[in-house]
Amino acid sequence: MVPTIPSLLDPRDVTPANLAILLALASQNSATGRSVRAQLRDRLLELTVAQAIEQTDYYNAAFGEEGRRFVADELAGLPLLSRGDLVGAGPSIRSRYADFGFCSYTSGTSDHPLIIYKSRQEQRYLWNLFRLLRTGTSSRASLVLSEANAVHGRKLELPGDDVQFPVSLASKSGYRVASELLGTRFLVAGELRTISMIAGSTRRIRQLTTYLTTHDRAAPADQVSTVSVSGQYLSRSGRTELAEFWRGAKIVDSYTLTEMFGGADRCDHCEGFHFSDFVVPEVVGLDSPAQLFEGRGRLVLTTLYPFTQMTPLIRYLPGDLVDVKREVCPTGRETYWFLGRALRYLRLADGAFVTTADVEEALAGIREIRRIPDPAPIPDECKLEGVLPAFRFVESSVPDLALELSDPSSISVQRRRSIIREVDRTLRARLFGLIGQYALSDTLHAPGELGVDWTGRA
Ligand SMILES: [Zn+2]
Repeated sequence: MVPTIPSLLDPRDVTPANLAILLALASQNSATGRSVRAQLRDRLLELTVAQAIEQTDYYNAAFGEEGRRFVADELAGLPLLSRGDLVGAGPSIRSRYADFGFCSYTSGTSDHPLIIYKSRQEQRYLWNLFRLLRTGTSSRASLVLSEANAVHGRKLELPGDDVQFPVSLASKSGYRVASELLGTRFLVAGELRTISMIAGSTRRIRQLTTYLTTHDRAAPADQVSTVSVSGQYLSRSGRTELAEFWRGAKIVDSYTLTEMFGGADRCDHCEGFHFSDFVVPEVVGLDSPAQLFEGRGRLVLTTLYPFTQMTPLIRYLPGDLVDVKREVCPTGRETYWFLGRALRYLRLADGAFVTTADVEEALAGIREIRRIPDPAPIPDECKLEGVLPAFRFVESSVPDLALELSDPSSISVQRRRSIIREVDRTLRARLFGLIGQYALSDTLHAPGELGVDWTGRA
């Protein structure tokens, strides 16, 4: 029997006890699970819009009278919320009934920090919800080496017994400390144990991996069971590198935002990402607000009440490009692939565009392309390695990609041609069906650069 969720939810219906049961059902990959997940998303979406109109001046004005009759399948009819709208809305987008709890913030690339207010109620709500969701799970506490991050304000706290070892990976000493901690045994509850989880930003955990490799400090096989990364695009070869070094570890690659609770995790079955039940994802065109059900566009996210309470984000554009596909995963969930930031892409003809993720995949195995060093004062051996390839998009009559070579004088003409062919092969595979017939060719650029042109139809 598939439970039916009442069509009109009241905040009193969504207590942690009620939602813990529904979320547990929704997490099952069965027909019942799928039905509960879809119903829960729609009913919470309607409750979210109703609460936002009632509690905030911003949504009251933006959605108007019509918003009061909102039903879930009309989501695409509501206005989009850009980061500029969100910053401009100021206190009017915050619930007037919420007790201030704490702030999280993100600096962004534009130097206009975005501060998100969270209430004591939502912190307490999530704490209670997760305590219930954990009930009955018997996994023992892990010892976690986690990258200390001081640039996002306070993080939401969830219940757990894990022992955290926060280490800064923005300084030289941090890498030495991390290496020492990994080799240390700790007496925990009468048992000698070692660190078994690593968590942090994709870039820094990759740099730590490079540091340990350079210093011959291989983690003993099976010591680390989970390596959890988020924050930057992780290429296929980057994932292989992590898996090879941290032998036996599960590599957890997540998409998270400082602005909101709830993100997406990479799936073991389809290799794409699925969003959690705490947010509702959509995709709209690169230039148009039209909703896309398949293909590449801009990601739109809506936070759901009661998981987010003080600062509801409805149809928020976080500034990320994604590719969405239906029915590719055996779990039945919609699958997303992250393509990089919406600030940086190269437009081709026919509405197609090349993203930073496309280029990073294409350059991952080409060591002649310079890597961008971390600007923080980290050990030199990590700096040299870097992880992000240096390139720029050039928008002109001929769309163009300029790749920075680390040692231009040492590269032969033949090697230049073979690099172009390698880049071409990956991009064609990724953009198959999106771009027409194009030829890539090596063009002259600034000294030290290799140019890749899309020179019209072949
Ligand atoms: Zn999947």
